[in-house]
Amino acid sequence: MTNALTFDVEEYFHAEVFAGVVRREEWPNLESRVAETTERLLDVLADARTLATFFVLGWVAARHPKLVRAIHARGHEVACHGFGHQMVTRQSRTQFAEDVRRAKKTLEDTTGAAVLGYRAPTFSIVRETLWSLEVLVESGFRYDSSIFPIVHDRYGIPDASRFPHRLTVAPGLEIVEFPLSTVAWLGWRFPMAGGGYFRLFPYRVTRWALRHLNERERQPAIVYLHPWETDPGQPRLPVGRVAQFRHGVNSRATEGRLRRLMREFRFAPAREVLAGLGVLVAGGVV
Ligand SMILES: [Zn+2]
Repeated sequence: MTNALTFDVEEYFHAEVFAGVVRREEWPNLESRVAETTERLLDVLADARTLATFFVLGWVAARHPKLVRAIHARGHEVACHGFGHQMVTRQSRTQFAEDVRRAKKTLEDTTGAAVLGYRAPTFSIVRETLWSLEVLVESGFRYDSSIFPIVHDRYGIPDASRFPHRLTVAPGLEIVEFPLSTVAWLGWRFPMAGGGYFRLFPYRVTRWALRHLNERERQPAIVYLHPWETDPGQPRLPVGRVAQFRHGVNSRATEGRLRRLMREFRFAPAREVLAGLGVLVAGGVV
């Protein structure tokens, strides 16, 4: 079973936890860490001979085109994390369309390769913003990986399908959805395969979850991380202790855990995993 390995490429200060303390106008003046930490990840992946999907923020691509070209040149999939890191729930349909098209064009102009996949900031495709999937198809995206089928304070569609599938978003329009991985137990769904969950739980919990998905449910997992989750040296921003903890817990251990995960499981870019399942068909979705 091949799982998908994915990274949302953004600066540490783009994390939603800092949205209340860092204004967008301040972004250009903050210390940039993304190129250095992502390049380090590229070396870690090269050591493990593993390819992944990088959902790159357009704002980052515009400032670090060399980084985006390096990701592409090393054989990874460059996909899209939108441009301005605004949650979909805070955008109108027009604003969202402008944001994703600008990001897609920036990325495609940078690498010369088509961008097929999208992941929303903070998994903000929820029931109220399902219209965004239609915009994604209209903008040329072929798959989305933004839906978290769980109950959570900031995101999630609790009863959404847990595994990759095709979704009809309007008559004649389909997109492939690769929901973030969960483990179902006693009627509850637990997220375990990425981000803060990956850092907070002991490694063996993640390993158990992936094995359970692969061996019992015969489904691929999708693991997600951000470059800043592997960067213990990032500047501290003025948020409360709980927020600081959620953002930074175990960041020193993340790289080692990732190396171990890549030794014990097989990974590929999301696009390839979806093609292998037969849900993403070459040459057009409908
Ligand atoms: Zn993000």
